Amino acid sequence: MSYTVTLIPGDGIGPEVTRAMQRVVEAVAALSGFEVEWEVHQAGQAVVERYGTALPDHVLESIRRNKVGIKGPITTPVGRGFRSVNVAIRKELDLYANLRPVKTIPGVRARYDQIDLVIVRENTEGLYAGIEHEVIPGQAAEATRIITRRASDRVVRFAFEYAKANGRKLVTAVHKANILKLTDGLFLRVAQEVAADYPQIAFNDRIVDNLCMQLVLRPHEYDVLVLPNLFGDIVSDLCAGLVGGLGVTPGANMGDDMAVFEPVHGSAPKYTGQNRVNPTATIRSGALMLRFLGEVAAADRIERAVARVIAEGKHVTYDLKPTRIDPTAVGTQEMADAIIREL
Ligand code: NAD
Repeated sequence: MSYTVTLIPGDGIGPEVTRAMQRVVEAVAALSGFEVEWEVHQAGQAVVERYGTALPDHVLESIRRNKVGIKGPITTPVGRGFRSVNVAIRKELDLYANLRPVKTIPGVRARYDQIDLVIVRENTEGLYAGIEHEVIPGQAAEATRIITRRASDRVVRFAFEYAKANGRKLVTAVHKANILKLTDGLFLRVAQEVAADYPQIAFNDRIVDNLCMQLVLRPHEYDVLVLPNLFGDIVSDLCAGLVGGLGVTPGANMGDDMAVFEPVHGSAPKYTGQNRVNPTATIRSGALMLRFLGEVAAADRIERAVARVIAEGKHVTYDLKPTRIDPTAVGTQEMADAIIREL
């Protein structure tokens, strides 16, 4: 069996963490009797001059053809320059559900044990529709937040289907419908309607600010969270913080028949090329990808190997050591080597 996967290394720390992921996936594939072929394409600032865009059509075509992609983070200029390539990939390919499992890994220093949350973030609209203009140049600007019945329905349905398929008990819709009565009011109403189709799964809703406080105080009361785009972005970083940080949290952008996997973290430019950052989030995104491809045993094997390396605590990057200046911390590729040895 052979799978062709579109690989976008990204920029900043992207090429380092995706290289580590590739090596782990190739190693587990060899042990499990399948092959992964990578169709490597660049996107972001590096290609703007050559193609006149940060996201050339051939990159999207490659993902459409292969139905599966995995990417490193891509830097988005702040307050100027091209629009986010990450957001564009999700929108262009209609990858409407951003799935971020947030689970305690034994051995990772974190505020809580046994956290097992799943974030489902709407990925195509909300404030990320990118409709902005200056009302009075330099004085006032306006952004439009789009919430539709269609996008709300399919992302909430995705959350319930995920809950059903994975033995989850509760779906919580997160919103600010007390203030954003029309937009989040619609999101909440649709969530309540969809919930009625899944009587076997409990449903409740929370206002987003209250939810943030509750997640910090009582995270074990939650199971699957479904949120509009911006809230989902913020709350998923908060949840990553609950289980040990951005270095360990994987993600997936899911559509009806294709998916692109990526770590939750960004391109952390200050660490570029230093072989320092944690490859776990991207390696675990690779495991999610193998699960999507049906290679469940290989995905489990990666998760177990990652857990063992982290629990042992020897061959881990600086962020998983007791202090950030621990001289025994290993580099990105050396942590991947340790995970490969454990496979
Ligand atoms: P970031 O996630 O890149 O970094 C924030 C901090 O988290 C880093 O300084 C570092 O301390 C820590 N961190 C992140 N990844 C880590 C890892 N693998 N191991 C150890 N520590 C890690 O967030 P930022 O600084 O806000 O964003 C930098 C750039 O990344 C921006 O241009 C942003 O737009 C982009 N970004 C891209 C994506 C994506 O490609 N999907 C996601 C988020 C941010």
